[in-house]
Parts: sequence; structure tokens; C-alpha cells
Amino acid sequence: MKPLSQLVFDNRFASLPEHFHTRLAPTPVPDPYLVAWNPHAFELLGLHAEAAASPEFVEVFSGNAALPGADPLAALYAGHQFGHYVPQLGDGRAILLGEVAHPSGSRWEVQLKGAGRTPYSRGGDGRAVLRSSIREYLCSEAMHGLGIPTTRALCITGTDMPVHRESVETGALVTRLAPSFIRFGSFEVFFYRGQHDEIKALADFTLQHYFPELLDEAKPYVALLREATGRTARLMAQWQAVGFCHGVMNTDNMSILGLTLDYGPYGFMEAYNPGYICNHSDHDGRYAYDQQPQIGAWNCTCLAQALLPLMEIDHARDALAGYGEIFATEYMRLMCAKLGLPFEEASAPLVTGLLDLMAKNRTDYTLLFRALAGFDSGADAKNTGLRDLFIAREHFDAWARAYGERLRAIGSIDAERAERMQRVNPKYVLRNYLAESAIRKARDERDYTEIERLRSLLSRPFDEQPEFDDYAKEPPDWAREIAVSCSS
Ligand code: AMP
Ligand code: MG
Repeated sequence: MKPLSQLVFDNRFASLPEHFHTRLAPTPVPDPYLVAWNPHAFELLGLHAEAAASPEFVEVFSGNAALPGADPLAALYAGHQFGHYVPQLGDGRAILLGEVAHPSGSRWEVQLKGAGRTPYSRGGDGRAVLRSSIREYLCSEAMHGLGIPTTRALCITGTDMPVHRESVETGALVTRLAPSFIRFGSFEVFFYRGQHDEIKALADFTLQHYFPELLDEAKPYVALLREATGRTARLMAQWQAVGFCHGVMNTDNMSILGLTLDYGPYGFMEAYNPGYICNHSDHDGRYAYDQQPQIGAWNCTCLAQALLPLMEIDHARDALAGYGEIFATEYMRLMCAKLGLPFEEASAPLVTGLLDLMAKNRTDYTLLFRALAGFDSGADAKNTGLRDLFIAREHFDAWARAYGERLRAIGSIDAERAERMQRVNPKYVLRNYLAESAIRKARDERDYTEIERLRSLLSRPFDEQPEFDDYAKEPPDWAREIAVSCSS
């Protein structure tokens, strides 16, 4: 483990030609302070825990001081926002400090979000508010805890500098880590500008550094598209299975590595409603929960289009064609596991039957699946606790009869199944009210302990952690209608 000053940088993205980015340093902020730091992410970088206590740490991760070897830059990209192509986006408030090489060989790009204006800010202030920084920090770590590919979070620093959103808030920076922040929109920008050499350079860069095994394929660019498509389909299956709604699935927020990227107005499903829209600015529900799989596919076609100069259209079509099958298979595999059933044809009606029932009864998604682990498959069992999660108890009874019959037919052993189900059905997810409580404490009392409590809790979402039972509960009345806007 090293002190901060000994992190070794090897900035591969910075080595791309100047069209790809603009070199610039973060804009300093007044009197920064440390809000949160994540020991798991420290380990990823090989950073000593003591580093968090040093004044230098706050200075570096608020953008006030430079690290030796860092080569900060803002990356160029474009993207389809709510279905419409926007020719230039780019890191408007994020600055990539560089890429840290861990002694073990793993590499992490380190990015400050909220680091000030860049040439891509398009009139924005280049800042992020404390509220949204806490939301990103907590959710990315919660997703990792759930086993879902995601960017990671190292720390949050804050400043009392006012930042104007719907109301006046204070500024913060969240430091994110990922092997790469390349997005679908990173390719699109060059396609729409007709810069085909740059598309090739970026595809080569991506293949060489992140998918070297694909370079042996007969058609590496097609293989890259196929791989990104497959990863996206699998990511969507994982989001759906856990009830995660991203909220802003624009192509500039789609990672070429298939990571969950850019946490804005996201939400975890509570009362089950397939049409759930977590982003209050998404009036048409383009990014509603049940739209996510097909939006993922649509986004992959945008990527395919951007890569067309590198391949024949029929090959692009073939690469995209796998999406539907991969998503459907992966989703059903995950859902069967959530029900403790074998992944086979006969399990499907029980999955869809349960979801229908949950939609009609607006059952809490996380609570129900977790409770289902305790299902008693005995022929005369009443399963009262589970039954009480439904408004129409008799609907549950009919489904439970079929489920119990199936479990008995396959010789499922309750205790064994319960154990398996608890490993795939989280007890804890980052419900909006939990994030909101941490935000309020931080904002109103400068008390950051709730952030750390949630980070730690959500890093082990499948563990009982009985002292935190309250954190597994449905939202209290005050929190039922927390509105989450795009503003961040
Ligand atoms: P997002 O909706 O956060 O994914 O951002 C979409 C685009 O707007 C990206 O290019 C961001 O860098 C940019 N952006 C968002 N907020 C700001 C801000 N406050 N200042 C400058 N650019 C921003
Ligand atoms: Mg974004």
C-alpha cells in the first residue's frame, strides 16, 4: 500500500491524438473538505488508508492540487439524448486525472466529476452538487455489491461554494474509477463528423487495451461490436432482475465495457410497477423500467452505425442480432435463480405469474424476493408472512399452490433453496429514501456518518446484517414521492 504521492500513472487515453480530448487541469474550489472515502476503492488503487487523512488528499481530489504523473484532460464524445443526436457533448464537468497502474497489473482511470468548466461544458457550470455526488458514490458501490458491472467511487470532497440548480446547493466532487470511460457516444461523434480514421483509431485503442483477445478474431471490429452488444444485453438483464432503473440511458451514458455509467436520477424498484419512471424529467417514459431492455438494443444500433465505416452492414447486423437472445436467456436465468427454480422452460410461467401478481398488488420488489427465500413448500403450508405482502391474498394463494407443487415435483429442499435464494435476492438496495436521509444529514448537519454507514451496508447487500433491519423496509410516508430530477 502506498501513499498518495507514489501512485504510478500510465495514461493511455491521453496518448490518443488531440482530436479525442482537451488537456486541462481542474478548476480549484474554495476550502474543500473530505465528505467520504471508500476503503475498497483505495485497495483497487493500492492506496494506503492513511492517505485519506492527509490534507494533500482533499486538495488532490477537489482539483486544487496536481499529482505527479497525472495528465488531466476532458474527453470528447457525442450521443443520442432521448432519441435525438446531439453533435457535441464530452466531459463538461468531469476531468480524467489519468490512469493508475496497480502493482498487480490492474489499471484504473481516475476521474473527478464536478471539477469545473471544460470546452465541452456547453453553458453548464462544470460543477456537481453534494446531493448528486452522494447519490453517485453510494449507488455505484451498491451496484458493485450486487455483482453488477459499474464504475466505482473513490471519495467525495465538498466545498461551501454555492451551486445553482432548482435551488442553491453546495458543490462537491465525486472521484470515479473505471478501466475506461469510453462511451458509445465516443464513437458516434466521429461517425457524424465523417472522421473515419478517428473511429478506427478509437476502435483499435479499445480492442488493444480492453479486448486484446478479440484481436485474434477474423474480424476484430465486428467482434468488438458483438462483445459490446452482448455485455449491454447482459447488463440490462442484471438491471431488470434487481429492479434498477437508470433514468437517462442516452448513448453518451452507455459504456463500451458494459458498465453501469453516470448515476443521475436512477431508482430501485420499490412497489412493483413495470412502467416505473424514475426520472421526473422523462415525461414520455422513454427510459421507464420496462423499456430499458429495448433501449439497450436501440443504443447498440447507434454504436453499430458509428462503427459501420469499419465493417460491412451485414456483419454489423449479425453482431447486433444476438442481443435479444442474450438478454432473454440471461434475464430468465437470473429470474429463475431468484425464485430458486432450475433454469428451464417449466419455470417461466411461475416467474411471469409472480411478476403479474406483484404488478397488480404493487408489491415491494426487493422485500418480496427476499421473503420468498423463506417459502415453505409443504402441501399444507400457509406462508402467512409472504401472503400478507399482497393486497389480494387469494391471488397469492393460487400462485403459491403452483409454486409449491413445482418445488415438490423437483424435490427442492427448503433450507438449501433458502440459502441459494438469499445469495441472489438482496436484502438491501439503495432505496431513494435511504440516499435522501444521508443527503439531508450531510447537507443540514455536516454529518457524513450515514454515507459511510450506507456504503458499508450496501457493500454486502445479501448478508442479513440484522442490526440494520430498518434499512430493508419499505419507504416511510415522508419519502414515498421523492422526486428525482435530472439536475445534478
Ligand atoms: P449527464 O446528463 O450528466 O450524463 O450529462 C450530459 C452532458 O452534459 C455531458 O456532456 C455532461 O458533461 C454535461 N453536463 C452535465 N451537467 C453539467 C454541468 N453542470 N456543467 C457542464 N456540463 C454538464
Ligand atoms: Mg453522462
